[in-house]
Amino acid sequence: MDISKIKEIELFLFDMDGTLYLGDTLYDFTKELLDTIKKQNKRYLFMTNNSSKSVSAYIEKLNKMGITAVYDDFITSSQATALYLKENSPNANLYVCGTQSLKKELCDNGFAVTDDISRVDCIVMGFDTELSFKKLDDVCKILSTRKVKYIATNPDYVCPTEYGSVPDCGSVCDMVFNATGKRPYFIGKPEPAMPNIAMKMVGCQKNKTAVVGDRIYTDIKSGINAGCITILVMSGETTPEILENSKDKPDFVLSSAKEILEIIK
Ligand SMILES: [Mg+2]
Repeated sequence: MDISKIKEIELFLFDMDGTLYLGDTLYDFTKELLDTIKKQNKRYLFMTNNSSKSVSAYIEKLNKMGITAVYDDFITSSQATALYLKENSPNANLYVCGTQSLKKELCDNGFAVTDDISRVDCIVMGFDTELSFKKLDDVCKILSTRKVKYIATNPDYVCPTEYGSVPDCGSVCDMVFNATGKRPYFIGKPEPAMPNIAMKMVGCQKNKTAVVGDRIYTDIKSGINAGCITILVMSGETTPEILENSKDKPDFVLSSAKEILEIIK
């Protein structure tokens, strides 16, 4: 695909960490990139697999770094999970192995969240920064004794931190697999649900939508699965070796999203 195709993109779906900032440090081009996209009457959305934080927590984080954002600028795996459940399991009683903010997102969407394991219809695993052994025990007990639906917000194994990484939802789901032999259906990237919802929200076609991210097995794969244009940035997790060995190839590989700014400016 010719690099000038990036000029025609009308909707950018940006991964955040490793793409627009690293930890708490904004990349120096990010503000100008977002401003330029807005000025050109194009759209961008922040697309995150992180289900431990609410949208308002992200707005606060971006504000602190000098970026203005509103609720409608986001598509999160928590929102996508709520939409998936509305379509596939309306009225389900949920056991949520996730943070209070994920529980709130699901409650706000009309679902009953319960700790009474005899009443559970569906287990929802999230990136649970409030994880306890009690929750793992409950999840294993439900999966081993009852027939319920089992879903998870995101398959990421680790979440980056200032000092390295911590286990994310995918790693906890592996622990549960080791105990029960059961694996959940994952909603976030690399599934196409989030890009699909985003395109519907904005009213933009696949061939004018780009997923931009630093991770191949989640960001880029979700774009490929949704049929969008995919842009891998080498400013985060992916090394040249990882790219070389991956069978999933993005349409474009850029050193960072700064190159997008240079192309569209
Ligand atoms: Mg990232």
